[in-house]
Amino acid sequence: MKKYLNCPICNEQSFTTHLNCKDYTVSGKEFSISKCDSCGFKFTNPIPQENEIGKYYESEEYISHSNTSKTIIDKLYQAVRKYTIKKKYNLVKKNATAILDVGSGTGEFLSFCKHKGLITKGIEPSDSARNFSIKNYKLDISEEKELDHLEEKSFDVITMWHVLEHVYHLNKRIEQIKRLLKEKGTIVIAVPNCSSYDAGKYQKYWAAYDLPRHLYHFTPNDIKLLMNKHGLKVETILPMHFDSYYVSMLSEKYKNGKGNIFKGFWSGLISNIKATGKNTYSSQIYIIKKQ
Ligand SMILES: [Zn+2]
Repeated sequence: MKKYLNCPICNEQSFTTHLNCKDYTVSGKEFSISKCDSCGFKFTNPIPQENEIGKYYESEEYISHSNTSKTIIDKLYQAVRKYTIKKKYNLVKKNATAILDVGSGTGEFLSFCKHKGLITKGIEPSDSARNFSIKNYKLDISEEKELDHLEEKSFDVITMWHVLEHVYHLNKRIEQIKRLLKEKGTIVIAVPNCSSYDAGKYQKYWAAYDLPRHLYHFTPNDIKLLMNKHGLKVETILPMHFDSYYVSMLSEKYKNGKGNIFKGFWSGLISNIKATGKNTYSSQIYIIKKQ
């Protein structure tokens, strides 16, 4: 395990334990979340070594990197994904010719962009997901180390859909994508929001903590601090309305041992209503530019 000595955002050295949470999807082990006493940022601490994290993704139930539809929740997730791909494309298409998707997974989003005429490039660390997207969609996808070899200022849009919370070397990754972004380009980052209603309601059972795969647990303020630190600025925050339902349903399952679609749906709805106008949605999209 690797223990943080400094806060990944503000570099201060004093933390308190925020929560202890179980890994419900793969290992069943318990992990801790530290909260920085200075800036308030929450991060998983300690974390598995980088060469050991792979085994925490090895699960039939971990569906982010596969396409198997099994449970009702998984099926719902797949159906919503089809719809959201189109919404995501509509968000990025303005003034865009070249797009880089970091953490491109099985490639559905990039494939959609490619069919709409964009020049597409993907980065995906998982061998199986990367190979799937190359074989099935004929996409140009590389391993993470390729980020340092791509030409600087070559992309109008760089997207990271629910990826930044998984990335080792957080600050290095922000610098890498900043180098690749054109001067007037846009970075689009989607991450869960641990200051949402559903996070507060479910506490250690909140499915979007997803320890130890999620290394960071961002609030909107954390994202702003992190971006400012790297000479970037958050221009707009947008909701991801479906995530509150999905996350609440999974959280119900973790809390009570079985899924309760009605309770999960209800909690997701309340979360969305309470977040209206306040940017406290369960997951949010941050539109980021260079300062
Ligand atoms: Zn801090």
